Amino acid sequence: MLKKLFQSFRSPLRKPQQHIRSTPEVLNSSQHSLQRSQFSRYAVSIVERLQNAGYQAYLVGGCVRDLMLNIEPKDFDVATSATPEQVRAEFRNARIIGRRFKLVHIHFGREIIEVATFRANHPVDDEDEDSNQSSRNESGRILRDNVYGTLEEDAQRRDFTINALYYDPVSERVLDYANGVHDIRNRLIRLIGDPQQRYKEDPVRMLRAVRFAAKLDFGIEKHSATPIRPLAPMLRDIPSARLFEEVLKLFLSGYAASTFEMLVDLELFEPLFPASSKALEYNPTYTHTLISEALTNTDLRIKQNKPVTPAFLFAALLWPALPAKVLRLQERGVPPIPAMNDAAQELIVEQCQRIAIPKRFTLPIREIWDMQERLPRRSGKRADMLLDNPRFRAGYDFLLLRESAGEETDGLGEWWTEYQECNDSERREMIRDLSGKPDATGAAPRKRRRTSGAKRKRAGSDASNASGE
Ligand code: ATP
Ligand code: MG
Repeated sequence: MLKKLFQSFRSPLRKPQQHIRSTPEVLNSSQHSLQRSQFSRYAVSIVERLQNAGYQAYLVGGCVRDLMLNIEPKDFDVATSATPEQVRAEFRNARIIGRRFKLVHIHFGREIIEVATFRANHPVDDEDEDSNQSSRNESGRILRDNVYGTLEEDAQRRDFTINALYYDPVSERVLDYANGVHDIRNRLIRLIGDPQQRYKEDPVRMLRAVRFAAKLDFGIEKHSATPIRPLAPMLRDIPSARLFEEVLKLFLSGYAASTFEMLVDLELFEPLFPASSKALEYNPTYTHTLISEALTNTDLRIKQNKPVTPAFLFAALLWPALPAKVLRLQERGVPPIPAMNDAAQELIVEQCQRIAIPKRFTLPIREIWDMQERLPRRSGKRADMLLDNPRFRAGYDFLLLRESAGEETDGLGEWWTEYQECNDSERREMIRDLSGKPDATGAAPRKRRRTSGAKRKRAGSDASNASGE
């Protein structure tokens, strides 16, 4: 299919370069597969209107890239020579947003088209450090960049070659400044410019490389992959609110399981989830299985258009890090239940320093975890009360997840599955049958098996084998 898609493309004679050309390769409508009708009609009308008003305007970024790959775009971005103020003046339904990047959002009912003014990538030795248009910190990270530029400069400041393709729906031509079409054909994620410098300017590009590689099933080109491991720690300095947004994109785009593998492999998981990364090192098989099972389920739910909650996802990503913390507190004499509560609290506070998980998610994370302590205690009216708890379903799913990762629960998941399917009298019988089980009557919960020192292993090759399939 791809071969057919690109058969009309002229293959570049010289070695593909990651640097920008001053004149783009222009592909007319017979040389590419894109059709105007594939794009949002609102986005097309914005481009037409801006062009009629005398500005340059193109569809750009993810929508051009995805349509070239026959993928339905998530959203449609427009790039233009008009400033945000000029764009706003053209459209009644336009709003200027953003601080780091000033953008215009044009609203059409529920659809929002993002319009960005061409921007320049300011040089590292820019004298203008303290201006309010642009600034960098001492490691070269761009803090603000509202320096407007030409179309060519706009192409240059974009992250990957495949994201720097401009489609003009009026002439139906594609402008390719960075050999993006070549990289789409070869299924490669390649940074524009010097990879090390581009990652230093914005370390989140390392996460974006992984996100696109997983989503498109592309490889990361060698020179773009090599600097990632040494520069991964730079993610620690990224504002935690931005990382929260990025992590949601990483894990809620339908490719979370392969994204996770890549993040671990490229050492990007550690700066995002330091405690879970330690768990992965000390208890590789269990941690890896639990997280990848959770992510595989999430991917499946997304493919089936079922709702997914970030709380469940974070609960799973962090759960393997809990036992070590519980154990440490218990060793200091804290009884099991308070130890569990304190460990959970401590873990979430620590994690939020890296990734700002909002309260509306941290509360349900705690509830899902608390439920794990309560699910074994089923005697009397307890089971029915749990069943009525609005968090029961998530708690029960989480229990099954733990079991699928090899946690020993004495058949608890199966018991709850059966209990839900039973009628009232059968349920009463199931509760009567529990009388011999100390756990079920509300006695102190058992210590979680995974905290036992004997189970711990140093990191080893088994981490990569435990895919949980
Ligand atoms: P998708 O919307 O499918 O996630 P996208 O490529 O459209 O993918 P966006 O985050 O919507 O990604 O960004 C739009 C475009 O803006 C990108 O294609 C890229 O050209 C540019 N861009 C976004 N983030 C960065 C960044 N951190 N550095 C450089 N360019 C960026
Ligand atoms: Mg986009």
